[in-house]
Amino acid sequence: MSEPGGERPGGSARPNASSDADTAPLTVGPRTPGPADAVIEFDRVTKVYRTGAIAVAALRGVSLKINTGEYVAIVGPSGSGKSTLMHILGCLDTPTTGTFRLAGENVSGMSEEALAEVRNRRIGFVFQQFNLLASMTAWQNVELPLAYAGVHRAERKERAMAALAKVGLAQRVQHRPGELSGGQQQRVAVARALVTEPDLILADEPTGNLDSVSADDVLGLMNELHDAGRTLVLITHDLEVASAAGRLIGIRDGLVSENDKRDLENVR
Ligand code: ADP
Repeated sequence: MSEPGGERPGGSARPNASSDADTAPLTVGPRTPGPADAVIEFDRVTKVYRTGAIAVAALRGVSLKINTGEYVAIVGPSGSGKSTLMHILGCLDTPTTGTFRLAGENVSGMSEEALAEVRNRRIGFVFQQFNLLASMTAWQNVELPLAYAGVHRAERKERAMAALAKVGLAQRVQHRPGELSGGQQQRVAVARALVTEPDLILADEPTGNLDSVSADDVLGLMNELHDAGRTLVLITHDLEVASAAGRLIGIRDGLVSENDKRDLENVR
């Protein structure tokens, strides 16, 4: 999987606000949707992988709406289509058929370059393996997505420090990942996901590499972000982890369903 913020956004290719305002208002700069707005809208999304003559339908018609400020867990067993769904949600891949709107913007048919720009602007990623650069300090890791976005050095540092303070690591900004516990490293990764003020924070098995105390710590942090109005999607195979979210969506054989915890107890 590519590093979050791994590609430079379009830079000068970004649409001009005044000339495009009537036709494509949602493509102009970062936008924070209002409380009732959908951050994610899937309409009959399919994904078919083709290898030679063999086709595997990993998603078989997923329709889904997630609003601003929701904390949603997508939970399903191995092979259910979670990674495929996560790749499309994260603008790392596109549907075979169907529509995906991210904060109102139709990203379904976008080129890789356009998709990378949207991804950097709208999504903050948290991965199971943290994906921090070992040679860099916490604040250098956190400011990286801002560097890719062309933000000036002084502002980068200020915003990175503020994000680290938000996740309770103000005293650890000069530490390298190897000098931090697993839970603290994941906090750095959350700060990196937050620093661009994304529309969506997408966490892929964020506690998968942590002991239970650190896992609770990271889930507590996600709760705080939810309380602060962030939109969070957590993808996991672990029902206990998923239970931390306010809304559970089950995925099985490439199809999703809204569930409460009891419905999902036979998922594992
Ligand atoms: P999960 O993350 O829940 O384990 P995946 O999304 O990885 O599920 O996989 C869903 C289905 O799609 C599986 O049957 C898997 O074998 C298949 N699949 C995933 N990626 C590919 C690929 N690149 N090529 C072919 N089949 C794939």
